[in-house]
Order: sequence, then structure tokens, then C-alpha cells
Amino acid sequence: MIVRVPDIGSEGLSVTEAAALGPVYRDPTWRLDGVRLHLERDGIDVFVTGEIRAAVSQVCGRCLEPSPVEVTAAIDVRLVPRPATADTVELAPDDLDVDFYKKDEIDVGALIETETALALPMKPLCREGCLGLCPVCGGNRNLVQCTCQQRPPDPRLAVLKDLATRLPR
Ligand SMILES: [Zn+2]
Ligand SMILES: [Zn+2]
Repeated sequence: MIVRVPDIGSEGLSVTEAAALGPVYRDPTWRLDGVRLHLERDGIDVFVTGEIRAAVSQVCGRCLEPSPVEVTAAIDVRLVPRPATADTVELAPDDLDVDFYKKDEIDVGALIETETALALPMKPLCREGCLGLCPVCGGNRNLVQCTCQQRPPDPRLAVLKDLATRLPR
């Protein structure tokens, strides 16, 4: 969904229908469940506030199984026109996220995608207390109890042992 900045009236513009946005995410496993956004214009700045809800599939950081994540993200973004040269950017040090728009157009879908990605957990887990993969055999310890030793043999120790066997007695 593209919103043209001159089309944002004095009362602002609301986006409340996820379906009306069309496909938002490039990843087809991601789904936008809810959107409540308000766009307001202040000169050339556009403020986007509200909230989005999405269902996103991530990979568990421990066992590498796909793990669905429900994401709710509060949106508070200031959009400014993209400057012709990078060194003219002057960003006010405030709490707002600042992003750019080009040619008087705001791609609401792209903004939602960015904000969703930012709201994802850095280290996703399929569940609290996931046991992860066995470092020795690579088996998923949530599913199988392998008989591997807890720790793989220390490679430094192996070197010492090797050395010991070669030393003259
Ligand atoms: Zn896991
Ligand atoms: Zn194992």
C-alpha cells in the first residue's frame, strides 16, 4: 500500500484493515493479523503511530526447529524525505525511530515489514527450556535422548595426550 504524502489531510490518515494492505511480507510464512496505524503530517515530516500484530515463523536458536512467534509491535516512527546527499541528514536525537520516504510516497507495507522484523526476538526459542541439539551427534535433545557424553572431548586435551604418547619414556 502506497500512501502519497500530499494525500494525508489535516486530520491524518488511518490504516486499520490488514486485508486492505495486500501482501505486506516478502516471506509468505509471515502473516499480518492486525494493524492500527495513524499517519499524520507535519510539514514534510510524517509521523506514523499505532500498533501491529503479526504471526511470524522463526527458527529456534537452540534446536533449529521452526518456531512460530506472535509479534506485537508499537509503532512510533518519523518519516522524513530522503535527502539527495547523505551528509545533509540531520537526525534529532529523540526517542522516535526515523526513516525515510522517497518521491512523496510512503510504502506502508514496507514500513510494517521493517517494524515487524525489528520487534522479533534476537534469540528465538521454540519454547522455554528448549534442550537444543546435542553438540556431539547433532540430535534434537527435545525429541531423542542420545547416549553421548555431555561434553565432547576437549581438543586441547587430545593434543596433550597425543604428545604424551610420543614422548620417550
Ligand atoms: Zn528449540
Ligand atoms: Zn548426542
